[in-house]
Amino acid sequence: MDALVALCKRRGFIFPGSDIYGGLAGTWDYGPLGVMLKNNVKKLWWKRFVEDRDDMFGVDAAILMNPRAWEASGHVGGFADPMVECKKCNSRFRADQIGSQSKDDKSWKLPDACLNCKAKGAWAPVAQFNMMFKTHVGASQDSASVSYLRPETAQGMFVNFKNVLDTQHPKLPFGMAQIGKAFRNEIAPRDFLFRSREFEQMEIEYFVNPKAWEKTFEHFLEQMHGFIADVGLTKAKVSDFEVAKEDLAHYSKRTIDIEFEYPFGKKELYGLAYRTDFDLKQHSEFSKVDLSYYDEESKERFIPHCIEPSFGVDRTVLAALTDAYTEDSLGGEGEKRVYLRLSPNIAPYRVAVFPLLRNKPALVEKAREVYKNLKKVIPNVDFDDNGNIGKRYRRQDEIGTPYCVTVDFDTVEKGTGVTVRDRDTGKQERVKIEELVGYLRLGK
Ligand SMILES: [Zn+2]
Repeated sequence: MDALVALCKRRGFIFPGSDIYGGLAGTWDYGPLGVMLKNNVKKLWWKRFVEDRDDMFGVDAAILMNPRAWEASGHVGGFADPMVECKKCNSRFRADQIGSQSKDDKSWKLPDACLNCKAKGAWAPVAQFNMMFKTHVGASQDSASVSYLRPETAQGMFVNFKNVLDTQHPKLPFGMAQIGKAFRNEIAPRDFLFRSREFEQMEIEYFVNPKAWEKTFEHFLEQMHGFIADVGLTKAKVSDFEVAKEDLAHYSKRTIDIEFEYPFGKKELYGLAYRTDFDLKQHSEFSKVDLSYYDEESKERFIPHCIEPSFGVDRTVLAALTDAYTEDSLGGEGEKRVYLRLSPNIAPYRVAVFPLLRNKPALVEKAREVYKNLKKVIPNVDFDDNGNIGKRYRRQDEIGTPYCVTVDFDTVEKGTGVTVRDRDTGKQERVKIEELVGYLRLGK
């Protein structure tokens, strides 16, 4: 994991947030390569779940919402983690992460000593800590101006349910989809991008007649695994975890966590929940706006039920990076090679083009031409003429570029095409320039 974090910084994927000021706990900044990777993940998701379907409506709701929405959703009252503080050094921990709670009398069993200062018996009582970031909207700082940075993107869709219904006139079943930032004031952010205080979600609220929820639930479970295959995660590292009835949130009838084998353990990657009509009912009650739906076929009026597939963008990026990080001996005698075995679907660059030598104008000119022509059809192409060819391969391997194309003297003098090198095997093949696009698209 440390090696991956170091690679991410060295190659410009991900930096600690506010790096030059010593960072800010729980925040990360995406650099040029990280943005490309993350955008590829988001594009893949949007295409599968919005563009390729006829029943999905995209929205982009505001991060700041009327605080009444968070009362209705239950976040003001209940969105809390159990927190325990050491009275000696004032370090704070998540009680459920360092200890466990008795199912019978709800008492907490905590380690004897503080994990930071090692003081014994210095724990203050476990308290509930609300994870929403509070802020003030407008110039006054009184309680009437309080608002929150959204802790999830879902509510921005529920509050727009009627707007979508009234403007698009969809028939059930239909869904709303959104990609956006969410914020949680985690007590103990950790595990790189896994648990951070600012993160991005891709969420769907899919509305159905309650009679059809089971079929829809199965459909989205399958779609979610389809997306995981698109991202290219190793299948054996992905598993479904059915949340036990007694552990379900009070509004949910069924929840499956899709888990991934991260280097720090098996953890939640995505979630699929049947949220019943809880959210629309709550918002209807708190806003006094009717959020029911009239079904013309059955002549029934009811509040639609909701299936929610929820995806973490950063958790996807982290899963892909940890899964892709590979070391082998392809570097040559006793030299270790590090490369990212990223799927061509999400790799920042699909292909890099080099002139064999940077000081031969004929080679550079031809390489530039190949690069420009490829770029017309494949958007993510890199051009690299720094250092020698071995260094370029090493760099492209480390950023996960599946193919490197080299223009050499034979390309220019004999017209015998270019050399294409495969990232994973290191094997090189001669490919005609006019066949290059097809080769790079179908090569994997
Ligand atoms: Zn302490």
